[in-house]
Amino acid sequence: MNRRYRKTLIAGNWKMNKTASETKAFADELKTMLPKAKWCDVLVCVPYVNIPAAQKAFKDTRVMVGAENVSEYEKGAYTGEVSAAMLKDLGVKYVIVGHSERRQYWNDTDVIVNKKALAAIEAGLYPIICVGESLEQRELGITKELIDLQVKTALANVPADKMRHVVIAYEPIWAIGTGRTATAEQANEVNQEIRTVIRKLYGARVARSVTILYGGSMNDQNAEELLAQPDVDGGLIGGASLVPTKLTTIINAANQE
Ligand code: PEP
Repeated sequence: MNRRYRKTLIAGNWKMNKTASETKAFADELKTMLPKAKWCDVLVCVPYVNIPAAQKAFKDTRVMVGAENVSEYEKGAYTGEVSAAMLKDLGVKYVIVGHSERRQYWNDTDVIVNKKALAAIEAGLYPIICVGESLEQRELGITKELIDLQVKTALANVPADKMRHVVIAYEPIWAIGTGRTATAEQANEVNQEIRTVIRKLYGARVARSVTILYGGSMNDQNAEELLAQPDVDGGLIGGASLVPTKLTTIINAANQE
């Protein structure tokens, strides 16, 4: 982390977990242990249908409620989709875009991810854009090229003045939900590469201020080491964010210089 230049963000991704009542129970438990200090922003991204329940449950806490996806379309005949304007109207600030599960199961290509990021930014939302390589791609030695392409495509037509609303999350696919974490060095190396791509696109000042997260089996045991890396500005956390004690430990791990 480098708090001098950028915000630290601890973001949970609940995926398709927890009902509205389970969300309330989680919030009630988390509130009893949530650290008061404001050394990082805390966010939980929940299923669309549970956003209002989560907002109510986390009212008067520092926990923000975000979404896990957004439509690339503005409005119209797209049954089952949710627009960026709808999320904005609910009071949502952050939305995850291009999570590897969306890329894998719903064919969210790099171009669609770019459209979703642009739709989010246009509506005044802050996209958390996920990028990451598969195990095969890492073993082929093409991680850098792949990440460069994903980042460049996702940011196509994003103006420099909107980059302060953009968060990037490096999530190696082989580390998501597998219990297999990238080493702190691997995470920092790719995050540094992402910052280099942003510097080439937008210049040093923008690159220095963009929050770049790591995600992939981050938990209460490994968060401190990962977050100590200079280019890891926080975490996008799946499984461990569903457990109040684990999420609290991760937030505390963000309390480092
Ligand atoms: C995720 O879903 O973004 C994620 C990182 O999951 P997990 O922490 O469970 O690997």
